[in-house]
Amino acid sequence: MRVAREGVPERDPAERAHDYREFTLTRPVAELRDQGGRCMDCGVPFCHSGCPLGNLIPDWNDLVYRDRWQPAIEALHRTNNFPEFTGRLCPAPCEPACVLEIREGDAVTIKQIENAIIDRAFAEGWVTPQRPAVETGRRIAIVGSGPAGLAAAQQLRRAGHSVVVFERDEAPGGLVRFGVPDFKIEKALVERRVEQLLAEGVELRLGVDVGVDVDAAELRLEFDALVLAVGSRVPRDLHVPGRELEGIHFAMDYLYERNRWVAAQYGPAPALAPPPAAGISAAGKHVVVIGGGDTGADCVGNAVRERASSVTQLEIVPEPPQLRPDEVTPWPLWPTKLRISYAMKEARETAHGELDFSVVTTHFSGAGSVASMHIADAGREPPFATVAGTERELQADLVLLAMGFLHPEHAIPEQLGLELDARGNVHAPAYAASLDGVFACGDARRGQSLIVWAINEGRQCARAVQRHLAALPV
Ligand SMILES: Cc1cc2nc3c(=O)[nH]c(=O)nc-3n(C[C@H](O)[C@H](O)[C@H](O)COP(=O)(O)OP(=O)(O)OC[C@H]3O[C@@H](n4cnc5c(N)ncnc54)[C@H](O)[C@@H]3O)c2cc1C
Ligand code: SF4
Repeated sequence: MRVAREGVPERDPAERAHDYREFTLTRPVAELRDQGGRCMDCGVPFCHSGCPLGNLIPDWNDLVYRDRWQPAIEALHRTNNFPEFTGRLCPAPCEPACVLEIREGDAVTIKQIENAIIDRAFAEGWVTPQRPAVETGRRIAIVGSGPAGLAAAQQLRRAGHSVVVFERDEAPGGLVRFGVPDFKIEKALVERRVEQLLAEGVELRLGVDVGVDVDAAELRLEFDALVLAVGSRVPRDLHVPGRELEGIHFAMDYLYERNRWVAAQYGPAPALAPPPAAGISAAGKHVVVIGGGDTGADCVGNAVRERASSVTQLEIVPEPPQLRPDEVTPWPLWPTKLRISYAMKEARETAHGELDFSVVTTHFSGAGSVASMHIADAGREPPFATVAGTERELQADLVLLAMGFLHPEHAIPEQLGLELDARGNVHAPAYAASLDGVFACGDARRGQSLIVWAINEGRQCARAVQRHLAALPV
């Protein structure tokens, strides 16, 4: 009761918008211990259910308070393979579920403590490869090296199986590497984890597009189990007149390009040569990002760093309330309330940034390349129809579509004859897909989601694979 919540410190938006280093800072140990000491060690810790991984939050909060950092990382690694990913990138659904958050804005800074524990552990050399004590002789193929694939790979390798991860990109990490920018997580951290997996004996085959370079059905026959962790990568398109004009791109095409550029400038270099750049750039342009989520924010952050002339982010849904609406999302649920992204703070400071809600796009215009967007107010409910008489024009010479993702690509499910669910994801209710020995996890199974869910899915899927292997004839 005597210690106030002190959240994650950040670098000044106007200053950080000129570089690609992480924008969050770390508190001194004494302050972190104070923050850990705010945890009330509740009899029923709701934060456990807020965290998709079921992280043992009160345990490590208390260990940090007592300055016992090594047992803290042991407790944290028990449920989370990659706390440095979640500690930086998780939206922290545990915090709105913290009992202190009944008084809004007071939750324990759980995510900050998690991040401090893992950073300390790496700095002290406590994170080392854990090779299995026995080899089972079983062979598992995992397609996709995002957080789901890597978590499944680590769990299965530590259980003594031989694990091969197939990845079509030139470097591993999935969206953590090629979607999320360095200013949220520097890629040396992804590389460091991959090195741990390699030292544990996981085999990584980069530049292999399964379904194209190798037949998925052949992989299934060659291995004792096949895990699909291919993400949800088919983007939602905007079917309005003028969509075909140059200068209108899917957000991920831009983000791949920016992440590759940053890797070329600052490293770490990928193991394979990247494909040639498509030349999508925001420099000096009037940029409009359609979509208000994480993907949109990362586009804004990159456009600001490229010195765009202006950056406007449009969202079709109405502006949410500033405070938790108790009648809609009462504690301990994740509140639907206004969150101004890190990137919009930067855009407002440096690039004439603007964020507009309840906006619908009616069409694009321009001679060959996009020059204008035609927008209008949107109705408050789906299908968010145009409000007559509100039509207006917005200057735009780069438009980035960040309106979410539909489902995974279907080439592999088709080769294997897998069932899909109603949304087009791989149907695998308990991680086993409809073909014996084939499993799915992460965004490929649940649709585009969060890193914390991807890690959880990778872990749960590994358990399902274990049960399958145990039932195979010796
Ligand atoms: C721009 C952006 C920013 C995000 N920011 C955040 C954030 O800040 N916090 C958060 O919690 N979540 C964030 N997310 C969501 C999060 O990144 C995903 O939910 C998570 O990465 C899903 O993990 P995954 O392993 O299931 O799939 P992915 O990370 O998509 O990985 C799938 C992997 O499979 C590979 N692959 C696909 N098909 C094949 C094939 N045929 N052959 C071989 N390899 C293949 C892909 O190349 C990729 O490496 C963000 C998403 C985006 C798009
Ligand atoms: S992984 Fe996310 S939800 Fe879980 S404790 Fe960490 S920040 Fe909270």
